[in-house]
Amino acid sequence: MPASDCIFCKIIAGKIPSKKIFEDSKVIGILDINPISEGHTLVIPKKHYETIDGVPDGEMGAIFGAVKKVVLKLRAKLEPDGFSVIQNNNEAAGQAIPHFHIHVIPRKEGDDLFALNPGQPASDEQLDELVQKLED
Ligand code: AMP
Ligand code: ZN
Repeated sequence: MPASDCIFCKIIAGKIPSKKIFEDSKVIGILDINPISEGHTLVIPKKHYETIDGVPDGEMGAIFGAVKKVVLKLRAKLEPDGFSVIQNNNEAAGQAIPHFHIHVIPRKEGDDLFALNPGQPASDEQLDELVQKLED
């Protein structure tokens, strides 16, 4: 998708309204319009990168620095019990908008929203095989 068709690029350019709660020179933080919980925020680099693969190394620190600032703000103002920080890449992972972004989702004790439940235990051999496959 070209950046000119991208909804987040349009928000960043001020062509589509958004509820901005954070901004610095490289990143914005806007409230998600379909919040999973109160304060659900999207942290978005101002430059268009589709997935994490395309984000330059030098930008990642600024983006995660912004995530932390958003967490600190939400924690101070909304006093949730915790946070989930989630980042989807590609359609298979549920990425609906192909402009890299990070979800900051305030959590409440027992909110039952979602959890990363463990899968089936892997054998030592299976894990070793995978380590080998992933060796440089
Ligand atoms: P993902 O599935 O990770 O690509 O997440 C996309 C998120 O963007 C969803 O949670 C949507 O609710 C949210 N979203 C879509 N359009 C807008 C918009 N105009 N302003 C704020 N959030 C949006
Ligand atoms: Zn974009």
